[in-house]
Amino acid sequence: MSISTRPLPSPSRTGPGELSPAAGAGGPLPGVPRLSARLLYQVQRLLAPNAGYRWLARWTAASPARTRIFTAAERAAKARLFGCQMCGQCTLPVTGYACPMSCPKQLRNGPCGGVGADGSCEVYPAMRCVWVVAYERAESQGRVADLRLLQRPVDHRERGRSSWVNYWLGRDEGLWTADDGLAAAPRIWRAGPP
Ligand code: SF4
Repeated sequence: MSISTRPLPSPSRTGPGELSPAAGAGGPLPGVPRLSARLLYQVQRLLAPNAGYRWLARWTAASPARTRIFTAAERAAKARLFGCQMCGQCTLPVTGYACPMSCPKQLRNGPCGGVGADGSCEVYPAMRCVWVVAYERAESQGRVADLRLLQRPVDHRERGRSSWVNYWLGRDEGLWTADDGLAAAPRIWRAGPP
């Protein structure tokens, strides 16, 4: 079944870890992170909110000019690394650092029913499903339980804003629901809004 309503770009991915240059340019294309899951989970610890990051986020948010510069830097880095679409509510820490917003359908809670038997995307069959990539990366680091957390709907008012500032200021608490008795406890979990 074809569900695309526009001409498909010619996917230019040549191997794991490479993003199509077109990713993010005309609608999302499934992305594969450029950095290993192991490295990114280590970076995750370094970026955990602390007094310094909270100060930086407040200092940045207090100035429109600083906010623009900081957000532009985040956009440039994360677009290249993850195919980031700047939703402003980052789920990367619980999706194996595969961005769900780079799914052509932007599904935040797992794949659609159209994933190919070979793990291919239904919309762009030459590419791998973002959620297959997410599962493989999370599994490789013992983080599959993270994927069972239920992601809340995207708040589109945050689109284009810095997810790092939102994270450090605690604005995105409650992005996912609580661990309600999952068989295996997620390694990451944040409670609802403070
Ligand atoms: S901020 Fe949103 S769009 Fe960007 S990488 Fe995170 S989840 Fe993906």
